[in-house]
Amino acid sequence: MKTVYLDNNATTRVAPEVIDAMMPYFSEYYGNPSSMHSFGGQVEKHVAKARETVARLLNCDPSEIVFTSCGTESDNTAIRGTLDAYPQKKHIITTRVEHPAVLNVCRYLSKRGYRLTELSVNAKGQLDLAELESALTDTTAIVSVMYANNETGVMFPVEEIGARVKSKGVVFHCDAVQAVGKIPLDMSKSTIDLLSLSGHKFHAPKGIGALYIRKGTKLTPFMIGGHQERGRRAGTENVPYIIGLGKAAELALKHIPQDYPHIKTLRDRLEKALLMKCPDACVNGDQEHRLPNTTSISFEYVEGEAILLMLSEKGIAASSGSACTSGSLEPSHVLRAMGVPFTRVHGSVRLSLSRYTTIDEIDYTIAEFPPIIKRLRELSPFGKEPHLPAGHGNDSTHVRQT
Ligand code: PLP
Repeated sequence: MKTVYLDNNATTRVAPEVIDAMMPYFSEYYGNPSSMHSFGGQVEKHVAKARETVARLLNCDPSEIVFTSCGTESDNTAIRGTLDAYPQKKHIITTRVEHPAVLNVCRYLSKRGYRLTELSVNAKGQLDLAELESALTDTTAIVSVMYANNETGVMFPVEEIGARVKSKGVVFHCDAVQAVGKIPLDMSKSTIDLLSLSGHKFHAPKGIGALYIRKGTKLTPFMIGGHQERGRRAGTENVPYIIGLGKAAELALKHIPQDYPHIKTLRDRLEKALLMKCPDACVNGDQEHRLPNTTSISFEYVEGEAILLMLSEKGIAASSGSACTSGSLEPSHVLRAMGVPFTRVHGSVRLSLSRYTTIDEIDYTIAEFPPIIKRLRELSPFGKEPHLPAGHGNDSTHVRQT
């Protein structure tokens, strides 16, 4: 059976070049980079090279890159490390549409003495910058706003946000896990103080990430122990994975300029065809300011989970929300924050492409997808109704039972 992987915002396949680059670090180059002998010294040089390449991807200084175990660790370090560094400031600002790696940390802290502001978004998934400005106070320690949303691909105007945050002397953290490796980023011209990235979103393995820390940014280490990463993140370096991240960064540097338009063309082809062939379908979120590889589409009167199962039978992998929450039946907090009606939230599917996605795969999906929606609607008790009355479906339990 043909297989088509359209869940690249959940994770990506590891690039073959990345695997090749990593292999010697499991066998030949097994030294500890902190060791004084030649085994260690040799490895340390390669770790330094990987750091340089990751820094080139962000256009920053290599000393501003700290390797971590994942995007979640980078987010935790940024937020908790800033709060520890500014103990007199007890206010955090974030948005209602962040990934749980940010949102749940902030909510956890709000139960432990911190005041939390969660900025709202409009129907397009965009922030109101006036709301941000009025939320900023003398006690605000950190503003954490994502670069691009993992469910909708909607991109925030992070530099405009950063300018407002910096004018108040507040630390600005950006979870750029979904942006790095997909679009060009330039820290030399940025207002961002701290930026999180994760290797497995751009063809490095799972379990490696990094935190960009702008020179001069005060941050208390989250992992305490040895002196690795210049005292900013203790723990023996995960050398093979750091090398893999470096290789993935090198490939991204090479591929972004040509991939960006190509992936966007394929995404638009898929989106346009599905909207044309499936009645009562619409795209969620701002279509103008969006990652080139992502589309979130809602199909009224059907369940996202049912669509996924039937797509899976055809060999097509997609997602009905963020990977981290797909095991639960909770409707997407992102779409809910955007005020998307429950019937549409429950019928939402996220399709996310990568540079390995081919036009054949897109055309196969365009052929297989619409009959699935048609079949599910025939089975659905709501399927034959052209439109549900206003307000119908606001009871999530009721909708889920269909
Ligand atoms: N932030 C965003 C926006 C994400 O999409 C993810 C993963 O889906 C994370 C953070 C967490 O990254 P990791 O899986 O590397 O912990």
